[in-house]
Amino acid sequence: MTTSTADEMENAATMQAHGSRMRPCVVVHYHEVGLKGRNRPFFLGTLETNLRQATAGCGVTRIERATGRILLWLEPHAAWEPLRDRIARVFGVVNFARGYAAPTKLDGLIQGVLARLPEAGEFATFAVRARRAFKDLPLSSREIAVKLGAAVQAASGAGVNLSAPDMTVYVEVLPQFALFFFNKERGPGGLPVGSSAPVTVLLSGGIDSPVAALRVLKRGCRAVLVHFHSFPFLNNASQEKARELAEVISAYQGATILYLVPLGDIQRQIVVSCPAPYRVVLYRRFMVRIAAALGARHGGRALVTGDSLGQVASQTIENLTAVEDVATQLMLRPLIGMDKQEIADEAERVGTYEISIRPDQDCCALFVPANPSIHTDLKGIRAAESVLDVESLVQQGIADAELVAIRQREKQSVVAQKKSTLSV
Ligand code: ATP
Ligand code: MG
Repeated sequence: MTTSTADEMENAATMQAHGSRMRPCVVVHYHEVGLKGRNRPFFLGTLETNLRQATAGCGVTRIERATGRILLWLEPHAAWEPLRDRIARVFGVVNFARGYAAPTKLDGLIQGVLARLPEAGEFATFAVRARRAFKDLPLSSREIAVKLGAAVQAASGAGVNLSAPDMTVYVEVLPQFALFFFNKERGPGGLPVGSSAPVTVLLSGGIDSPVAALRVLKRGCRAVLVHFHSFPFLNNASQEKARELAEVISAYQGATILYLVPLGDIQRQIVVSCPAPYRVVLYRRFMVRIAAALGARHGGRALVTGDSLGQVASQTIENLTAVEDVATQLMLRPLIGMDKQEIADEAERVGTYEISIRPDQDCCALFVPANPSIHTDLKGIRAAESVLDVESLVQQGIADAELVAIRQREKQSVVAQKKSTLSV
């Protein structure tokens, strides 16, 4: 037996032992999660769990960490589209690709790449980018690129273009096998959901708060959502929108809890007892108290709103201060420095815009005076509120809250259309 035949047999044996002869997989690359020093195993474990949950039912047989990447091994005929849609929404993923494990020996690798070349689509130019995560191999990255490049060129007739190719063949050589894939999909980046403490998002039916929710998800927070409505004083359109927005959010964080809280009775009390210009700020103070209590049931440690400075009357520094006055938790306002147009663009990218722009009757519009105070002073607002039985109104709001449990959305049609521009 010649050395090379012995090598080939050994290689084939390794491949079979690993069960990976041209086995399809998804190669997932992360970046930020890999940089967390001693917390790295925790971040990676969270990312792995989220990938497992997000891809449940999509033909993933096993998930494995492999030197700087995560591999999702697939059943032979696992459909790519649903997998792609789901992985594109897992925070912590920087990029990913459908790939294959091939032998580390060059001939086997070339055969594998040529067999799968039709999946690369149409291309007039291409490049090969080879990396070795495992350096003890006879072939250098350059040799792999040159030889594989020649084979792809011969098979496809396409030209090599290293600076701006139509298509890239990526090769990553690991100890037991070589991975190859064509092109890469962009992931949403950020940190895996669950790697930061949980938060409570005040979710209106508007454009801003769903975008704020996705911003904190992207920084690793799991979010409980709380929506306030004035049904039956107003119609229930905002509740329907909140449910649909929660579904979109669930495509990014998995199972999601949404509370629907009737605010109408509390608003009525405010209207009969307190000066009209303070109404909106007073509504908000009750929202903050009730949302914090509901979210705390699920471990919520901070409140998140879609406030953007100066956008509407309730969002002046003075009014935000008057609302925050009753917060016992950190308040996060991830959109504070953004323009409406920037927020709307982001809402389109993440898939919430079409839902948010549907007309509704927001509870803050109920009994609102033509001239709300924009420079609410703390002393004044506290005095105005002191005539109310705040504690029992808050308890009533908590008691009346309806819990809606939303499972991870299976059909992600709204967001699926936006797949190429998902970064948040
Ligand atoms: P959005 O588009 O998120 O409604 P907005 O620009 O309309 O924001 P406001 O309506 O003043 O601004 O609301 C500011 C923030 O207060 C919202 O982003 C949201 O976090 C919270 N909020 C307002 N209304 C509600 C509601 N009905 N239920 C829950 N939270 C609300
Ligand atoms: Mg609003």
